[in-house]
Amino acid sequence: MGDAPDPGMTAGRGPSASRSPAETLGGHLDTLAATVDLGARVADDPLRFPQRYHNPEDIEVAGAFAACLAFGRVTLFAPIISACLDEADQHGGPAAYAASLGGAPTRLAFTGRYYRWLDDADLRGLFATLGRACARHGSLAACFVAGSAAQTLEGGINLLRSELPDDASRALRSLFCRPSDGSACKRWCMFLRWMVRRGAPDFGLWTHLDPAQLVIPLDTHVFRVAGFLGLIEGRTPNWRAAVCLTEALRRFDSADPVRYDFALAHLGISGACRGHRDAEVCATCPLDPICQAPAAATSADASPRSPRRR
Ligand code: SF4
Repeated sequence: MGDAPDPGMTAGRGPSASRSPAETLGGHLDTLAATVDLGARVADDPLRFPQRYHNPEDIEVAGAFAACLAFGRVTLFAPIISACLDEADQHGGPAAYAASLGGAPTRLAFTGRYYRWLDDADLRGLFATLGRACARHGSLAACFVAGSAAQTLEGGINLLRSELPDDASRALRSLFCRPSDGSACKRWCMFLRWMVRRGAPDFGLWTHLDPAQLVIPLDTHVFRVAGFLGLIEGRTPNWRAAVCLTEALRRFDSADPVRYDFALAHLGISGACRGHRDAEVCATCPLDPICQAPAAATSADASPRSPRRR
């Protein structure tokens, strides 16, 4: 008497045909990550700002600055980051300018520039804080020591906070929220991804940290698509949700769970994913066979296919 047939198998089809959508999720995510057009998408990503530099110290400072300002629409935050870095380049580059602003406060830097609720004093304060942290610890890398993801982030952000100007505004302080505050710390998780991950499009400069330790930068796009895939539950993109999603992704790549982040985020940033099923768009999406997005858009979801929030 032979073995009973696998109830999921159909005569004449291979074992992969018996796999449930959940079991094939990793393969679809791998396809998404492998097919994202890195060159084109980086143009709409704040990662493009540290990519202007070759010196590791400049990459660190430009990266931390760009990550901190990477909220709202790309088309709005990109010009102000670019203008500030242009000014830094006229003073020896981001690391040198941060060191100079950290050592000698001045009202001349970034005069008249602002982004959302951050005015020019906040932009100066952010640069000065990064400069003082580099001067005290030798580099930004030295602020983020190996530990659990929460320990690494919490410790690093606390060291940076300790370098904030005494008169730092609430807006400036809000850039340095921590896991213990419940925040997903998206901007700092993104900065760490840039610095730690070895594979493109990231830099892999900080070899003292393991990519397996990273937590996914949980922005609205990633949170939404992760929900469509059944990888995340709940309605709030907080630290707990970021850790849960990272653990779910670890099933597919235990050594580098956040390698899916760039492609997931850019499904939304590019406007390709409209947040609901769309026969024409979804037919070209690698996640189509396992996506459980709703059939119809809400008015909040229906928006033009242009670069969106990061
Ligand atoms: S809704 Fe469509 S485009 Fe968006 S993730 Fe799902 S399959 Fe991809």
